[in-house]
Amino acid sequence: TRIPLIAGNWKMYKTGTQAVAAAKQLAHLSKGVDGVDIMIAPTTLSLPLVAAALGKSSPIRLGAQNIYPGTEGAFTGEVSGPMIKDAGADYVIIGHSERRQYFGETDESVRLKIRSALDAGLIPVMCIGETESQRDADETFFILDKQITDGLKGFDLGDLDTLILAYEPVWAIGTGKTAGPEQVKEVHGFLRHLLKEKYAEGLAATIRILYGGSVKPGNIKDLMQLEDVDGALVGGASLNPEDFNEIIRF
Ligand code: 13P
Repeated sequence: TRIPLIAGNWKMYKTGTQAVAAAKQLAHLSKGVDGVDIMIAPTTLSLPLVAAALGKSSPIRLGAQNIYPGTEGAFTGEVSGPMIKDAGADYVIIGHSERRQYFGETDESVRLKIRSALDAGLIPVMCIGETESQRDADETFFILDKQITDGLKGFDLGDLDTLILAYEPVWAIGTGKTAGPEQVKEVHGFLRHLLKEKYAEGLAATIRILYGGSVKPGNIKDLMQLEDVDGALVGGASLNPEDFNEIIRF
């Protein structure tokens, strides 16, 4: 059985001070929550501050929103896996659609970043998803297949032990439009089947596949009831500790 993961992607919101306050409030509100993994991804700058505020034994784990594929070097402005790990994070979000859209990330850079995350002992949360025009053109499954095939090229089964997939239809991010239960069910089922065909039944059965895109306290229950949905990657609603606390208590 797969332990659900609810992850909050704080994107470029909250100063360090605000991030610490929100994390502490969430820690307080979420006391006693059981049977779910919880992760928040503040800005890289806030990671060590939030890590210190929560403490090592907190059930709220931390993630970065990006990683540079390499350990160190003359790459001005970048942050590597060992640095993220050292800052107190266990996870890293890779290939978010905003990074693909605004920062030129490709399936190839996603692949390199996943490799670096694994090398640093971080759990990669690989984001995939189709745009609205791709869905309208009936290319959804083709695009998802390509993102998985190219993004995971060269990885063997052992590499994928910890990998988490996040399906985020681009048209549902920050728009208030959630993919309907039928759409989510169809895509998550497709992804699990694809992993079975490409890798192994065992991986397909154990990998966690999150849904992301306008997840809110009001729709999380229905999403989590879907068989192949193992959690959520939450943007906007994760910024408010009260909302996020409701979501993790789906
Ligand atoms: P929203 O929840 O704000 O739609 O964002 C989803 C997302 O991009 C999470 O990574």
